[in-house]
Amino acid sequence: MSDWKTRTRLVHEGVRRSGYGEVSEAIFLTQGFVYDTAEQAEARFQAAGEDEYIYARYGNPTVRMFEERIAGLEGTEDGFALASGMAAVNAALTSMLRAGDHVVSSRALFGSCLYILEEILPRFGVEVTFVDGTDVDQWRRAVRRGTKAVFFETVSNPVLEVIDVAAVAEIAHGVGATVIADNVFATPIFSRAVEQGVDVVVYSATKHIDGQGRALGGVVLGTREFIRKTLEPYVKHTGAAMSPFTAWIMLKGMETLDLRVRAQSATAQRLAEALDGDARVSVIYPGLPRHPQHDLAMRQMGQGGTVLSLDIAGGQPAAFRFLNALEVVTISNNLGDAKSIVTHPATTTHQRLPDEAKAALGITPGLVRLSAGLEDPDDLVADLRRALDAI
Ligand SMILES: *Cc1c(COP(=O)(O)O)cnc(C)c1O
Repeated sequence: MSDWKTRTRLVHEGVRRSGYGEVSEAIFLTQGFVYDTAEQAEARFQAAGEDEYIYARYGNPTVRMFEERIAGLEGTEDGFALASGMAAVNAALTSMLRAGDHVVSSRALFGSCLYILEEILPRFGVEVTFVDGTDVDQWRRAVRRGTKAVFFETVSNPVLEVIDVAAVAEIAHGVGATVIADNVFATPIFSRAVEQGVDVVVYSATKHIDGQGRALGGVVLGTREFIRKTLEPYVKHTGAAMSPFTAWIMLKGMETLDLRVRAQSATAQRLAEALDGDARVSVIYPGLPRHPQHDLAMRQMGQGGTVLSLDIAGGQPAAFRFLNALEVVTISNNLGDAKSIVTHPATTTHQRLPDEAKAALGITPGLVRLSAGLEDPDDLVADLRRALDAI
């Protein structure tokens, strides 16, 4: 099993078949499990063996299939699925931190990630130092002996800054800190996070893993030691378990993940190139040679990814006219979906931030995030051009 290639893993890894020999993964939509005897119940509560379950908050066969498939793909020893991407980010951090600990984090983060690091962790006595994640010297200056963890989005949402994962991991490991990466934008397909030194990889499965906008989900991936000794006790007692039905959706999503993500990334590259040089818009995309971290992105992911950002000349009024004129591309706030989606971060996902904080993160009034879907790229180029004309 260990030398299977990506597309084989995505279809077969982690499959558990019941006595019926079903082809498609079964949904074990059960909260609990029956024991033959009281002694068996006692033994299982003492130590559940491989593929033995107690209660769906602790684990479930369908959820376990998903965890094994995604851990096998990422190349980590183990994984734990959660109810959403934010539950996964929160659990990865909170399960390992305590009052008095120090964390260093990149400042350019998804709004809810920023809320955990800026508002929640300090409330419980964790000190967080924020850095410009693209400046390796700032990481070097911010870590200190006893820094417990570093946190970053490998490619930031929505301004697409690329973190030098190997360089930051080396700095973090120099002081014994755990490297936790929110890897949504790298996607499980382009990620090489483990070989680049990440200890704990977090995904919102809501994005590319589902890929069809149906369900919220998240997963934390890491060593067996971290997942079973640190994360699992926290998650099983605090309750953000993934539903077996959601795990089944994610398993089915994974079967087509490689095909979808590669097609979406190729489309994103095509759209970025089609609009680059148009005076009405400034294109931000790691796949364009003039992106400040283009070389790094190519070394790290080999691709620009499925999301690009457009800074529309004329600020918010022009950006709104652009969004409202789109006919194929949908206005929403998911990404990685089969449907191409545009978001205006300043008024939606990052609305909560004061203007100075938005400016510091590059979230300008004209900024539009565009997630490339599975439509015909020609139709998307035509739609974007028509909407630019309509401004
Ligand atoms: C969407 C997203 C999350 C949160 O995931 P949910 O599944 O919506 O909870 C976290 N980090 C990044 C980078 C995201 O894009």
